[in-house]
Amino acid sequence: MKIVIDTHTHSIASGHAYSTVDEMARGARKRGMRGFVLTDHGPGISGGILPHPYHFGNLRILPERIHGVRFLKGVEANILDLEGSLDMAEAMLLGLDFVLAGLHERCFPPRSREENTLALVKALAHPLVDAVSHAGNPVYPIDARSVVLAARDNGKAIEINNSSFRIRPGSHERCREIALLCMETGTRVVCGSDAHFWLDVGRFDKVLELFREIGMPASLVVNSSEASFDHFLEQRKASRRP
Ligand SMILES: [Zn+2]
Ligand SMILES: [Zn+2]
Repeated sequence: MKIVIDTHTHSIASGHAYSTVDEMARGARKRGMRGFVLTDHGPGISGGILPHPYHFGNLRILPERIHGVRFLKGVEANILDLEGSLDMAEAMLLGLDFVLAGLHERCFPPRSREENTLALVKALAHPLVDAVSHAGNPVYPIDARSVVLAARDNGKAIEINNSSFRIRPGSHERCREIALLCMETGTRVVCGSDAHFWLDVGRFDKVLELFREIGMPASLVVNSSEASFDHFLEQRKASRRP
C-alpha cells in the first residue's frame, strides 16, 4: 500500500513549523506524493496565537498544483470544549478542502477518559469536520471504540498520525488498537505525516509498518489512492449541503 496524498502538514504559518508552502511542495514531490493538504493549526482560543484567521481565508490565492503536486487547502482546527466546538468560523471552514480537528493541550487540557471521548465524538458530528487528528495520542485517554464508531456513523475518517510514533510516546499501542477497531467496524482511516518540516512531508514509514503488521486493507485508507481520496472529499462535500 502507498499513501499518495499527505493530509496533515504544517508550514511556518503555524508558528512552530519550519518550512514554507513552496518547500513543503518540493518535499512532497521528492517523496513521490501526488499531493498534500496544508493543515496549519487553527488560531486557538485567545487571539495572538498563530496563524491569523486571514491565513485560511487567503489560501484561495494559491494554485491547485505547486511544483507538480496537488495543493489542497486545510486546517487542523482546535477542539475547544465538550460540545466539539472549533476555533474556526464556519464560513472559513467552508472555503477549505479538508478539515482536521484535534485535541491540543493549549486549548483543551486533558480531562477524564469520558470527557476526552465526548469532545472527539462531538467534533466528529460537526458537519464541517472530515477527520480527527492523532486520536491515538496517549495524553488523551479515550474510549477508542466510541470514537471510531462516531467516525464511521458520521461518514468521517480517523487519522493515524506518523509523527505520533516519534513524538507522542506510547502511541504505538493506541494507534494499533484504533486501526484494528477501524478494520473490525469498517471505519475509514486517513494517514497524516503531521510534518512540521519539509523533509517529513509524505513520511509514512511507521504507519505503513503498522498497517502491514495488522493487514489493514487499502480499501479503508482514504488517501491510499487519488481516486479514493477524491471520492471521500466528494462524499464529504455532498453531506455539507443543508
Ligand atoms: Zn495536532
Ligand atoms: Zn498537526
